[in-house]
Amino acid sequence: MNVLVVNAGSSSLKYQLFNTNSNSVLAKGICERIGIDGKIVHKQAGRPDYVKEIAMKNHSDATRILVRTITDPSIGCIKDMSDIEAVGHRIVHGGEYFSESVLVDNAVLEKLELCRDLAPLHTGAHIMGIRGCIDAMPDIPQVLVFDTAFHQTMPEEAYFYPIPYPMYEKYKIRRYGFHGTSHKYVSGEMIKLLDKPKGETKIVTCHLGNGSSIAAVKGGKVIDTSMGFTPLDGVIMGSRCGSIDPAIVAFIMEKEGFTPSEMNVFMNKKCGFLGVSELSSDCRDLTAAIAEGNRKALLAIKILGYQIKKYIGSYAAAMNGLDAVVFTAGIGENTAIVREMACRDMEFMGIDFDFEVNNGVGHATDKVCLTKPNSKVKVYLIPTNEELVIASETEKIVSALNS
Ligand code: ADP
Repeated sequence: MNVLVVNAGSSSLKYQLFNTNSNSVLAKGICERIGIDGKIVHKQAGRPDYVKEIAMKNHSDATRILVRTITDPSIGCIKDMSDIEAVGHRIVHGGEYFSESVLVDNAVLEKLELCRDLAPLHTGAHIMGIRGCIDAMPDIPQVLVFDTAFHQTMPEEAYFYPIPYPMYEKYKIRRYGFHGTSHKYVSGEMIKLLDKPKGETKIVTCHLGNGSSIAAVKGGKVIDTSMGFTPLDGVIMGSRCGSIDPAIVAFIMEKEGFTPSEMNVFMNKKCGFLGVSELSSDCRDLTAAIAEGNRKALLAIKILGYQIKKYIGSYAAAMNGLDAVVFTAGIGENTAIVREMACRDMEFMGIDFDFEVNNGVGHATDKVCLTKPNSKVKVYLIPTNEELVIASETEKIVSALNS
């Protein structure tokens, strides 16, 4: 099945046309500066990139232009719109309303509206993207795949923050968790590598990118995760602080005279690697600086390694055991020093880490085992593929409709 995977932002719309039979990407690209002026960048194997500045008043315009591009005989890869059999939308926040992927109808869109408060910028953009696709492709089924859905299996003691109960009821403040499609994919791949029934598996998945989150996946279901009400919670990130003593928030606001929204920007954009290193939010810049002896860059990375180690330990305790740890996403797949710091001195819990293999990986395009053959707990690097999960979830729902 050909599935168009769409990730709509407020002024951009990223897309990938996926063939789920061959698990291959036929084309991908981005419509940028929607509502400002407009530009499409379209990439396809064996052809030069197609870049065109073209007016896009809104997401409907952008979708029409992308469909025109992928069906253009000299630029695109399919004959006409009917070759797109379904559209799968990446949705950042599904609140408590969505614990699995769904087919879009009016009731679903009404529920999605109720999630707007939880992630205003993202949800607003997603709704524009969905309406844009419905306008441009009215006969093609649309499916929503949520970053939060895989985490909806958490027990209440894991998702409840110790605030007054009415605040949870009134504002839906609780831990939701994010990167669910990635955690689902890599834990699923890891389960295939373990020699036990899925129901007995205990895995910690570490998705480490610009945003990072860690999940405890027991028997194929999430029982805890590090991101919370928003993607600011958990470990140190590129420019996000992760979990800090909540009293620091009021303290900095008073000292620096920040408004709540300025404080939000501060915690999301000025902290993390960038804040600690005073150099960059990009892990590649930090590892290069560490090689030149930069102390603050090393501190930033050490914080991440130490925090991951603590999550692995606490999630092993929460699951009463551990079979495997998985590293994925930009940093997890490419930064040996972070994996080493997280897994070093963990023999007591059965991790016999292979430092040599870990150092030699470079840029992995497939699964790599990072532990010695007799290690009781396995550590794997598994490249994530969120678009593949979105495409296959979409295919599953649309195929069920047709059968
Ligand atoms: P996002 O969360 O935006 O999807 P990514 O998963 O691409 O981000 O992760 C971005 C982080 O991963 C950056 O800190 C970057 O330095 C690091 N990274 C990405 N690709 C590489 C690479 N090829 N080599 C080293 N680090 C990389």
